[in-house]
Amino acid sequence: MRMSTLFLRTLREDPAEAEVASHKLLVRAGYVRRAAPGIYTWLPLGLKVLRRVEAVVREEMDAAGFQEVHFPALLPREPYEATNRWTEYGDGMFRLKDRKGADYLLAPTHEEMFTLLVKDLYSSYKDLPLAIYQIQTKYRDEARPRAGVLRGREFVMKDSYSFDVDDAGLELSYEKHREAYVRVFTRLGLDFVIVSAVSGAMGGSRSEEFLHPTAIGEDTFVRSPGGYAANVEAVTTPVPPALPHDDAPAAHVEDTPDTPTIETLVAAANASHPRPDRPWTAADTLKNVLVVLRHPDGTREPLAVGVPGDREVDLKRLEASLAPAELEAFGEADFAAHPALVKGYIGPGALGAESASGIRYLLDPRVVEGTRWITGADQPGKHVFDLVAGRDFTGDGFVEAAEVRAGDPAPDGSGPLELARGIEIGHIFALGRRYAEALDLKVLDENGKQVVVTMGSYGIGVTRALAAIAEGNHDDKGLVWPRGLAPADVHVVATGKDAEVFTTAERIASQLQADGVEVLLDDRPKVSPGVKFKDAELIGVPTILVVGKGLAEGVVELRDRRTGEARQVHLAEAVRAVTDAVRG
Ligand code: ATP
Ligand code: MG
Repeated sequence: MRMSTLFLRTLREDPAEAEVASHKLLVRAGYVRRAAPGIYTWLPLGLKVLRRVEAVVREEMDAAGFQEVHFPALLPREPYEATNRWTEYGDGMFRLKDRKGADYLLAPTHEEMFTLLVKDLYSSYKDLPLAIYQIQTKYRDEARPRAGVLRGREFVMKDSYSFDVDDAGLELSYEKHREAYVRVFTRLGLDFVIVSAVSGAMGGSRSEEFLHPTAIGEDTFVRSPGGYAANVEAVTTPVPPALPHDDAPAAHVEDTPDTPTIETLVAAANASHPRPDRPWTAADTLKNVLVVLRHPDGTREPLAVGVPGDREVDLKRLEASLAPAELEAFGEADFAAHPALVKGYIGPGALGAESASGIRYLLDPRVVEGTRWITGADQPGKHVFDLVAGRDFTGDGFVEAAEVRAGDPAPDGSGPLELARGIEIGHIFALGRRYAEALDLKVLDENGKQVVVTMGSYGIGVTRALAAIAEGNHDDKGLVWPRGLAPADVHVVATGKDAEVFTTAERIASQLQADGVEVLLDDRPKVSPGVKFKDAELIGVPTILVVGKGLAEGVVELRDRRTGEARQVHLAEAVRAVTDAVRG
């Protein structure tokens, strides 16, 4: 690769829409270029790195005995209809029609097609287990494409699928994938935490995510000292025991004017209606939050959620609990349609399938029988006190919607939780039989009986992993690729006007190339050393060899992009020094 002809323009300015470092730098250093929102073109340098990341993934998949195939991205509707995902996937799926008016989609994930292919070719338990994979472009019409290729609407995913005749087989296939993922991310130099995840719209039983911890991550996860780790969406609230309530006072409605917030309500309760044993706290109040569920078939359903007033509703947790439905705001029109709701004073009395509003009412798991609450009395300026769960009200069920906070107990009793953020770089699912059942994938077992195959599905975000690597490997001057993932092994920079410099740089470059070292050669005439050094720092090849002024004394300079260290090397030693550094 020669800088004189390389299809590249580096930029001094950050792209206007970029917020995170990897996005800014991948654009500025000429790795990717935005084609449309969430859709990126890969330029020569970017493609080199992408191929290297893919190679690591492919080698580890192959080493684990999984076989590579390649599906189309453009798929017919019918298989997705059979599993109900044509509808369930909602707005996230790109749908289109062919010239005859038949429905097609751009695949967001490929469970259906893998299932059908195996059904097409295999029929006996003797054919299993089987694990096949592809590295392929996926399409998702993300609501919020973000951070360049970190969350794109078109992106590269490695997706594998396992097929087993029984649960024990699936368990084994799942373990093999888990181990292969550990090797992939270790080789990519990406720190990761394996956390329990919700299976969501995919269905299935066991599921874990590989999260790369970083402050810019969109996922929040929790960890306990005893080893519990989960995506915050998957955290279940330990249910406290029911409380005796025979002696609880009867519920009573009180005037609580001017109490628009939980804080003002608690202050008013303590001032005017003190509790004899201890002061009221926010945790004694029951906050009822309204949302609208939009189901995949487009129907809207209002929903009320009751949580202790000291906690916010975490909309991502709520949405994960109710997947595949998506959340929308409960708007003015919705209030108008439900006159039983008194804004600011909504209580259990006006909620529930059997109530005047008819709105489904789901409660936080802490609202167990016998707990006593202050909550809206469904009259302006009034709250009801000592409203006892199980005695005075019940919900239509329970839901994980309340925020998880640092210090909350781990559900498995392994200690207090700490919270951190991460990027989801991989996800493994024990799917079970959902897809095989829907598409009728069966094989004959040992006894000649037809059995439904059990499946797993396993994804790695290849382009996302690349962005995560860039995010973790940069400084204020530019990218700093880990060795082996950089677009070249060495960046040879020829500086000065002297023809000798250029011929020497050329010669070193060809020798290195002949030794299997990939070279990016800056052979641009009439470009100042300053510009060349800046570009080299921005592009981020870990080893830089400068052929310039020193040549008169028979030396070149070897620079380490990561540490900034530079040392003079005798010309005769240059190739050797670079090779050692690269193979280091
Ligand atoms: P997210 O929660 O981030 O939207 P997901 O859970 O929907 O991701 P999966 O269906 O589990 O994603 O897909 C497997 C992997 O593909 C993810 O672990 C992630 O690394 C990658 N991936 C998913 N969506 C995107 C995207 N929009 N852009 C880039 N990579 C993605
Ligand atoms: Mg996922």
